[in-house]
Amino acid sequence: MLRKRVEYLKDELNKHNYNYYVLDNPVISDYEYDKLFAELKELEFANPELITPDSPTQRVGSVSTKFEEYKHKYRLYSLDNSYNPEDLRKWYERVTREYGRDNLELVCELKIDGLAIALSYTNGIFTTGVTRGDGITGENITQNLKTVKAVPLKLFENINIDVRGEIYMPVSSFNKLNEENLKNNEKIFANPRNAAAGSLRQLDSTITAKRDLSMFTYTVILPDGNNTIKTHWDSLEYIKKLGFKTNPNIRLVKDIEGAIRFCKDWETKRFDLDYATDGVVIKINNFGIQNELGYTARAPKWATAFKFPPEEISTELKDIEIGVGKTGAITPVAVLEPVLLAGSTVSRASLHNFDEIERLDVRVGDKVFIKKAAEIIPKVIKVVDDEKHYSLAKYRPPVECPVCHSPLEYREGEVAAYCSNSECPAVAKARLEYWVSKEAMDIDFIGPTIIEQLYNLNMVRTPADLYKLSQQDFMQLELVKEKSAYNMYTSVRSSKNRPLARFLTALSVRHVGKETAEIISGEFKTLENIKSAPLDKLAEIEGVGEKIAKNVYEFFRDKKNIKLLKELDDNGVVPISSKQVQSDEFSGLVFVLTGTLQSMTRDNADAKIKEKGGKTSSSVSKKTSFVVAGENAGSKFDKAVSLGVKILNEDEFIELLNSGSKT
Ligand code: NAD
Repeated sequence: MLRKRVEYLKDELNKHNYNYYVLDNPVISDYEYDKLFAELKELEFANPELITPDSPTQRVGSVSTKFEEYKHKYRLYSLDNSYNPEDLRKWYERVTREYGRDNLELVCELKIDGLAIALSYTNGIFTTGVTRGDGITGENITQNLKTVKAVPLKLFENINIDVRGEIYMPVSSFNKLNEENLKNNEKIFANPRNAAAGSLRQLDSTITAKRDLSMFTYTVILPDGNNTIKTHWDSLEYIKKLGFKTNPNIRLVKDIEGAIRFCKDWETKRFDLDYATDGVVIKINNFGIQNELGYTARAPKWATAFKFPPEEISTELKDIEIGVGKTGAITPVAVLEPVLLAGSTVSRASLHNFDEIERLDVRVGDKVFIKKAAEIIPKVIKVVDDEKHYSLAKYRPPVECPVCHSPLEYREGEVAAYCSNSECPAVAKARLEYWVSKEAMDIDFIGPTIIEQLYNLNMVRTPADLYKLSQQDFMQLELVKEKSAYNMYTSVRSSKNRPLARFLTALSVRHVGKETAEIISGEFKTLENIKSAPLDKLAEIEGVGEKIAKNVYEFFRDKKNIKLLKELDDNGVVPISSKQVQSDEFSGLVFVLTGTLQSMTRDNADAKIKEKGGKTSSSVSKKTSFVVAGENAGSKFDKAVSLGVKILNEDEFIELLNSGSKT
């Protein structure tokens, strides 16, 4: 029984290694792989007689055959990993016990989710670059690596040296590549690591050259006779001086608790980076101690990897449900076999639209990969290309609205399908739900179930109807007693005079979300001005554009909407005009905020800029006047540097707010 399980695990893991390292096409997530791996390790530890040389626990990766094989001068190891602080503490206890001393200094580095490579330099000149392969033999990809700008072709010193690093593709470049590939009907990569692997292992290096790849270097094999550098930390400083790019997000800590804090810090901050990181590598700083501790068959004992909660996992797609949104847009939603992902159980994921379903070739019954990154709703990113997939029926998108059965329509320039019925009950309910939501009119005590009842009882059809209800009316609803009816009634009443931007958001004009509504309200100040704004004036506003301008323009000229606005007005629902701008000191200036400010929240900073007549934007462009960089500023900071946009730290920003001067 036990032997059988071990054999099964070995076979499974070897199969997954092949899919991952040779085909670049994993069919399970890293998290699932690591779980199988940990189980095998545990069984082998308890039953050492079952360990065989072909066990995946005895080796690292696998060599592909696309390129010329190359035997590494120095073996490349893997890393043992853990998913929780407890395991990190156990690792630290083990090494301190083995070395016989407490408080061993540690270096914490981000674990870059890319491809490990080994680079050799002779007399300061780049000679060979090899993939990790199985750690003993890799593939010679020197030509391709020469196209990567972060790989120095000549060092600042004429020395013989070997280094290791991780080749990665910036997330922004990965998104751009996928967008372009989508347009040209070419392969879509599941994640940046996959894209980097696919780009690096091209037989034609001109293709690699076109892809934006970069490298962080993290290990150096010191040249013989160099006894001056005694710690990992100093070795990183040293390679930086030789011309290698190292990752700036590193920290030297006194003990494992410091390392755990570093891991916690980066668990969320990592989403601000423009490269993927799947964990933190923790290394004993002192080289002497590293040497004492040595290696196991596949990994150094002096280092360990902490892996962040998985962002990707595979599960079964049980159904595709069709939702109808507040603008009538039809959205397919994946119904999943529930799985635990990044700390929560996920049973639904976004599929965006029918084009996306076709592109991914999603079929009900498929095994799919879902991903949760910075966004809250996970999305389906890939279908596992296995035998089962081909035995399933291809998905056929609906031709009618699932609620009112009106035909669906497609609009020029948009991928979404829409319900063609302007009276569709699903749309009306979705609009009402949005109207009361926190983001819009922020009406407490009323949510989807109350809306459902109000609608079904024919008491409310449009937002204006909400304001016609009495406390008694609310008491007709199921399970609603006097007190809650009173709460609902007063809550509706107290929403009558919300700021203009909220009111505009709540109207559900197509493509006008919170941010756009703020921009438009800021520009026109009153509802009357927005209503009468000419199309060209709307389109001129930065951040609005022609498509949205047209939507706004048409919305306020639609008979039904004119009626709704009048009814709202008749019932006293009158938005308060945008806060009067207190000064125009910042007029014409565009600010982008990034990172965490210590003395104020982002919303506050935003408000202060606007009070002075300035604008804020969420992305850096040449038009940006200032990037305000708080602590742990992310990719916006890098973009500002590359575009030469002026960067202000928090103190400088506060000074500017106080002085109001533009320079
Ligand atoms: P690993 O990715 O867990 O860790 C070792 C690697 O980390 C090193 O080789 C190096 O490339 C990298 N690294 C990044 N930043 C580093 C830094 N600052 N310092 C040192 N190293 C750094 O181990 P691995 O052996 O490369 O790969 C095994 C992992 O790959 C598994 O744990 C699993 O998650 C994944 N895998 C998945 C499948 C699958 O089917 N999904 C199959 C095989 C392997």
